[in-house]
Amino acid sequence: MQPHSALPAQGALPRNQRLVLDALRKVRGPRTAYELLENLRDQGFRAPLTVYRALDGLRDKGLVHRIESIKAFIACCEHDHEDRPAFALCESCGAVVEIEDAGMVSRLESICARTGFKLKKAMIEMTGTCAPCASGAGSGTGRGSRSLPGRDRA
Ligand SMILES: [Zn+2]
Ligand SMILES: [Zn+2]
Repeated sequence: MQPHSALPAQGALPRNQRLVLDALRKVRGPRTAYELLENLRDQGFRAPLTVYRALDGLRDKGLVHRIESIKAFIACCEHDHEDRPAFALCESCGAVVEIEDAGMVSRLESICARTGFKLKKAMIEMTGTCAPCASGAGSGTGRGSRSLPGRDRA
């Protein structure tokens, strides 16, 4: 199974899905459905439901992931991956890094098999400090990088 290679070209996505995906790729960070709605008002988005429908379609295609712990969505890193990835969330700048490791989920599965727990879905989300923040350089990839009009950033 190579889910990503079987995808239609991005141009073949329904308009709303394409707009939501473009918005998420542009910000390179997590956004909630309501933040996306604000970003896309100019494109004719009026209701949260419109955004949620587009996000559902994109998640089905593996182009967008939901970060459960912050109820936000992020564009997939676009690498081929079948397993649900893990996410590392920076508490300083809000950056989210998608981490894939084929061994991670199978390890969880074997732990569950051992304990008799029937695993349905694994969500691995870690909080901490991203490499740029840890080194004092700050980050240019997360929420903190968003340039808001009228807000000075030191
Ligand atoms: Zn992904
Ligand atoms: Zn950071």
